[in-house]
Amino acid sequence: MVQQSMSPKSSSNPTDQNLELEQPEKMYLPRTSESDNLKKIRHTASHVMAMAVQKLFPKAQVTIGPWIENGFYYDFDNPEPFSESDLKAIQKEMVKIINRKLPVVREEVTREEAEHRIQEIKEPYKLEILADIKEEPITIYHLGNEWWDLCAGPHLENTSELHPKAIELESVAGAYWRGDETKAQLQRIYATAWENPEQLAEYKRRKEEALRRDHRKLGKELGLFIFSDQVGPGLPLWTPKGTLLRSILEDFLKQEQIKRGYQQVVTPHIARVDLFKTSGHWQKYKEDMFPLMADDQEAAAHEQGFVLKPMNCPFHIQIYKSELRSYRELPMRLAEFGTVYRYEQSGELGGLTRVRGFTVDDSHLFVTQEQLDSEFLSVVDLILSVFRSLQLKNFKARLSFRDPASDKYIGSDEAWEKAQGAIRRAVQQLGMEHFEGIGEAAFYGPKLDFIFSDALGREWQLGTVQVDYNLPERFDLEYVAEDGDRKRPVMIHRAPFGSLERLIGILIEEYAGDFPLWLAPVQIRLLPVGETQLDFAKDVVAKMLALNIRAEVDTSGDRLGKQIRNAEKQKIPVMAVVGAKEVETNALSIRTRASGELGAIPVDEVVEKMKGAMPAAGCANANFENF
Ligand SMILES: [Zn+2]
Ligand SMILES: [Zn+2]
Repeated sequence: MVQQSMSPKSSSNPTDQNLELEQPEKMYLPRTSESDNLKKIRHTASHVMAMAVQKLFPKAQVTIGPWIENGFYYDFDNPEPFSESDLKAIQKEMVKIINRKLPVVREEVTREEAEHRIQEIKEPYKLEILADIKEEPITIYHLGNEWWDLCAGPHLENTSELHPKAIELESVAGAYWRGDETKAQLQRIYATAWENPEQLAEYKRRKEEALRRDHRKLGKELGLFIFSDQVGPGLPLWTPKGTLLRSILEDFLKQEQIKRGYQQVVTPHIARVDLFKTSGHWQKYKEDMFPLMADDQEAAAHEQGFVLKPMNCPFHIQIYKSELRSYRELPMRLAEFGTVYRYEQSGELGGLTRVRGFTVDDSHLFVTQEQLDSEFLSVVDLILSVFRSLQLKNFKARLSFRDPASDKYIGSDEAWEKAQGAIRRAVQQLGMEHFEGIGEAAFYGPKLDFIFSDALGREWQLGTVQVDYNLPERFDLEYVAEDGDRKRPVMIHRAPFGSLERLIGILIEEYAGDFPLWLAPVQIRLLPVGETQLDFAKDVVAKMLALNIRAEVDTSGDRLGKQIRNAEKQKIPVMAVVGAKEVETNALSIRTRASGELGAIPVDEVVEKMKGAMPAAGCANANFENF
């Protein structure tokens, strides 16, 4: 993992806790998937927890207890749900077991022996688990000589290797046996376990910080978007401020794209299902699409009708195909902020990072084989420059290639080799830090994905570039080459943001709601001290609005202290207090979130500085502190 500074701005105001928390992480927290030691700790701790539960609740039956990213859970069948105080008692019991220094002993038995022993202790779930274990011998792990569980390991050698102060039971939730609602309702206890108490403390700090930054919470507080039960899960509604934020991001990227020869297009939200049969989406991706809209049963039976688009590619392909293209027209770069719909499972929906309708900053480049490498590089260059403007620094590139053993891909081996080769060459030429993700490719081609780690070490996928020889083949795309022959173009699919929804969710959390000046939906709020200053404030705001500065005036009539608190809650980057003296001198008393009190500044000077924060002025990173 790349360990870089996450600090998007430097703090000159140590009392501002938002800025303080943007210091680089001091402590490295290992992930379970990367640490064998943590796997052992969490495995062992989950058995210790199960033993403790059965000691305190003799009727509890054990099921499964795997490790997860920050700890482990264990599902129990217990007549009564566990309460908060039960968790405390269980944790206490665990400490006792740890302190008893019980050896963790592995034993190999035959299937018959395992069955026999399970029947002896009357644990029906274990019998089902045993039936799923295909290999023999069956391994059993004993804690001392009074408790055992079926498990493949690995474990610590003794319970005393667990640090009792590095384990904490976190919560309890209902879960169904095998995730199946028709089966028994179980009690799942979530716990976290670490190598030492320092790691636990850091984990708890990050968890709290994640809660503070949660984009669902902040999105509501800042008035950016809402969800409505009547509209449906995973379908965000953008309120005026959030819409403004979206259009600032869209305009910013559109400007960048114009400079780089992209052409904007607009395509419909639905299409005949046949379009997606040709592209292969219907065959490979049907489960993730909203159901077919068929005219009648006959049409439904023949899978005829319309579908909501899960991707924009086939539409852009139609625009390309609408004329016979010449090599002179290539590369052709068609771009669209295209809203797509995917039928995500409702259990997976949470905030903006997983939604059912979202807008991709999509583009498809139709290029000749000779143009492929340089076009790919310029796409990567665009993506990196977008990340720089957004102050997203901590990312790595994943080469998302196909898994040769899987049948979920379309196209020839040769096409895949060529496409993966192009991505490899680009990454080598750029000297970019990267890793390979086998099996992470799209079904029609390999990708270069940008994986961003946020201030809390969580990973998110942002931008993506894909090289595709398959869709041009399936849609029989051509161009007339210089020698008059018909040739097949190569397609590049790319989206620097990924989707506006996901990007905004990530940005809210990354900035903890403190948008840089150029992105803030409201950049400056004028706070008149009294009635008499209101007209002056309104005049200044009108002047600013005319220059595209997103300004507003607090007309609440509240006392100044309250106006300041409200503006702070809204995380408005610049506050301008207007009192009698300011009116008299045609000035504003400026106070910024980034730099604190800046004193009285003439109105014209404030306007100039605000204008400097526009991405269109070529300095998207400008902040008010750059005065
Ligand atoms: Zn185990
Ligand atoms: Zn595409």
